[in-house]
Amino acid sequence: MAKRKSFDEKSKGMHKTRKLIIDTVFGKEDNTQRVFGYEKETEQKREVGETWVDGDGKEWRQEKGFKTIVTEMDDVRDFLHKLSHCSKEDCKTIQYSWADKKLISKTGMCATCLSKFETPLRADGSFPFYEDYKITNNKLAYIRDYKDKMEEALRGVKQQMEIITEDGKVEKWEWQVDIEKVKEDLKKDIDVAYDAIEALLLRKAALEEKLIEFKHPELIKK
Ligand SMILES: [Zn+2]
Repeated sequence: MAKRKSFDEKSKGMHKTRKLIIDTVFGKEDNTQRVFGYEKETEQKREVGETWVDGDGKEWRQEKGFKTIVTEMDDVRDFLHKLSHCSKEDCKTIQYSWADKKLISKTGMCATCLSKFETPLRADGSFPFYEDYKITNNKLAYIRDYKDKMEEALRGVKQQMEIITEDGKVEKWEWQVDIEKVKEDLKKDIDVAYDAIEALLLRKAALEEKLIEFKHPELIKK
């Protein structure tokens, strides 16, 4: 399974401690004392394929080198399918070219469907507003995701943590930081995220009005 590259890329400018918290809470592999300042306490080996329920009632399964929340797997499969198939129901493209695949991952449509979709928008002048609308929605989705992760981190962060290593061992770590300070920082980040969401929602609403003006209510996302 691929690493969560896009989130990592997007979070490059993030405060180092915050990034480490996220990576820790969401189970990145490189959970070593060198990086996190946790002190190892106990070890328990998990076999690949083994499932178990943790102290918070979450179900886990040991994969080769990483763990997943079992109930999330269907969503992931769905998501991967969407990433690699044209979203138009009347799509006639049988075999995707390299260009089709690139466009599908970027726009959700193959080259033929995308051109059919965009031509009228370019003709009536609504295209720039539609583009802006798409970008605004993407930003909104990203910042909401970021906020959710922060909130989950805030709930999940604690002095002691259970971490699964690449070879399937369970390790308990004691975190040598001021946990209250960490929580304070997270709360500040969450506040910033809420402000950003508010601003983006205003922009989204204005662009939706514009799309209605252009008689394209079908472009509005619910
Ligand atoms: Zn298509």
